[in-house]
Amino acid sequence: APMLCGYTLGQVIKYYEVVDSTNEKAKALAREGASEGTLVIADQQSAGKGRLGRNWNSPAGTGIWMSLILKPEILPQYASQLTLVAGLCMCEAIREVTGLDATIKWPNDIVVNGKKVCGILTEMSAEMERINYIVLGIGVNVNHKAFPEELPFATSLALEGKQDYERASLIKAFLERFEKDYKHYKVDPHLTAILSRYEAHCITLGKTVKIISGNESFTAEAKEITIDGNLIVKTETGEEKLIHSGEVSVRGL
Ligand code: ADP
Repeated sequence: APMLCGYTLGQVIKYYEVVDSTNEKAKALAREGASEGTLVIADQQSAGKGRLGRNWNSPAGTGIWMSLILKPEILPQYASQLTLVAGLCMCEAIREVTGLDATIKWPNDIVVNGKKVCGILTEMSAEMERINYIVLGIGVNVNHKAFPEELPFATSLALEGKQDYERASLIKAFLERFEKDYKHYKVDPHLTAILSRYEAHCITLGKTVKIISGNESFTAEAKEITIDGNLIVKTETGEEKLIHSGEVSVRGL
């Protein structure tokens, strides 16, 4: 149906049975000139990546392992906001398709019943003040029946909802939302327009969290999310600090 959603995102889909990492694959395609909206999907990742060099468990057939190539004409400093936009859209897509109470752990983990079902990894290539491309990697645990012992905080939609879900329905629901929000984002990369939706699902606010950055960590109360997607926390000594998404891990939810 033309103009139904005005899709530019996911119009080109590159599907693979196995890749090392959909982000790596998408970056390679982007370097070769793949167009904005190209979506890389794999049934399995042999070396799926998380943030900060971590691994992402991505067995065959059970999850959504995908990366979207984007080329917004915005300043590189606004790229991290996109991760929050994507997290929100996937959170809403999961709620719509499964009816599960999916929530967002700032900045962009999606959590159901206290356990992680989705992680997002954004990578960017930029020169000077210009973005060449952004690769938005999203991993959703959809139909896993079990997780390895070393991932006690992971869960899947199937484990929580006690039924299997169609991966394609989730991808479609995500793309429909993200297409709209991304259009606004390209005009104004601040989160102004979506912040109230984000806050409605964010479980981090009001909680005591542990902020881990490199070798340092401290405990603080999560107060507020700024229109740049950063988190304002109040430390135990009453000092307010601005935490940038991307550089830190947040624990304690
Ligand atoms: P973090 O939440 O620590 O910022 P990421 O979102 O990048 O990190 O995810 C990487 C971490 O998520 C890994 O260190 C691992 O603990 C955990 N993890 C790995 N694979 C999965 C998975 N399929 N589902 C949920 N959590 C996972």
